[in-house]
Amino acid sequence: MKSDELFETACGLMPGGVNSPVRACRRVGATPRFIASARGSHITDVDGIEYVDYVCSWGPAILGHAHPAVVEAVREAARDGLTFGAPTPREVEMAALLRELVPSLETSRMVCSGTEAVMSAVRAARGFTGRDDVVKFADCYHGHSDGMLVKAGSGALTGAEPDSAGVPADYARHTLVAPYNDIEAVERIFAAHGSDIAAVVVEPVAANAGVILPKPGFLEALREITSRHGALLIFDEVITGFRLALGGAQEYYGVTPDLSTFGKIVGGGMPAAVYGGRADVMRTVAPEGPVYQAGTLAGNPLATAAGLATLRLLKADPDIYARLAAKGERLARGLREVFGARAEVPQVGSLLSVSFRDDPDVTFARWWRLLLSRGIYAAPSRFEAMFISDAHTDDDIDLVIEAAKEFR
Ligand SMILES: *Cc1c(COP(=O)(O)O)cnc(C)c1O
Repeated sequence: MKSDELFETACGLMPGGVNSPVRACRRVGATPRFIASARGSHITDVDGIEYVDYVCSWGPAILGHAHPAVVEAVREAARDGLTFGAPTPREVEMAALLRELVPSLETSRMVCSGTEAVMSAVRAARGFTGRDDVVKFADCYHGHSDGMLVKAGSGALTGAEPDSAGVPADYARHTLVAPYNDIEAVERIFAAHGSDIAAVVVEPVAANAGVILPKPGFLEALREITSRHGALLIFDEVITGFRLALGGAQEYYGVTPDLSTFGKIVGGGMPAAVYGGRADVMRTVAPEGPVYQAGTLAGNPLATAAGLATLRLLKADPDIYARLAAKGERLARGLREVFGARAEVPQVGSLLSVSFRDDPDVTFARWWRLLLSRGIYAAPSRFEAMFISDAHTDDDIDLVIEAAKEFR
């Protein structure tokens, strides 16, 4: 198998043979497929094996892979030059479109990754409030910046501990960690540290620990508590943005954050991300204000072209979110019927995950390998969501349900 040969070579050249850890497939006791190409809902590896793809590059491919209009937009942009390090018209179009689709983005800035977007939003919140602490939730992932790579400390009200080697404990203690959906824990943290807290950062749907829906009232309560204490509310919409609705989770749940971050879909498959929100907060960002943040490739012409084309296609199709949700529901309903009490299948829109009750790690690994053998490429970790695109057909969905019927 060419994938195996490539992986062996790669292991001597890159840590774990990959450029992002989950791709190594270690959690499911497998080695990675190396991908040659992808189109629509299908992805093909270097050995010519084709799969129905439920990773969708972890979200960006909401229109399916290699959508002709997106590819053409990139091609056209490339003809005029790849990067200038100076402003371009498309960046203005992007900021205007973002504000139209997500009204809370009064002003915004483009960066190159979701990690950078969250890191920068947190810095802006700290600069604006003059406070050092941030609250995050244990089940949420916000990229790999130092302050976000933390786990709950020994006491609920103390600062966090590093969740990665290389993160200074002195840095981690400025992050306070609460359990997701636990508003009492947030109240306790604010009661103890309220005047030091710059912001609460939250995934409005947690989608990096399996899919966890916010309990009714949770996001509203975060909105109220942060406002009451003069802290900012930051929605990390890197996954939910343009996935649950054109206006993201903030539109879907009707809760407006002060700042939000977008990634994945906003780059249309190219490296682009965005943070933004209240104009008064964003005025603290350089060169207008004292919060420094910059990027050589930020607003890159190709990435902006791909993102704009993707957002315009989403905007032009008033039924797309209903279609995506119908597919999500079809898959979740089918899996629930087959698995019964064996597994939970949380789902919202085109995001879902499968969580087995007994021996979850081992059972998931077996499930993943069964899927692969049936021509289905799913995220190789039970903590990652399945992503459905507009290109997925009912047959694509039913293939997973048929596989579930075979799963012992
Ligand atoms: C993927 C993700 C990030 C990090 O984005 P990268 O582009 O991988 O740096 C941040 N927050 C959430 C919610 C994500 O899912």
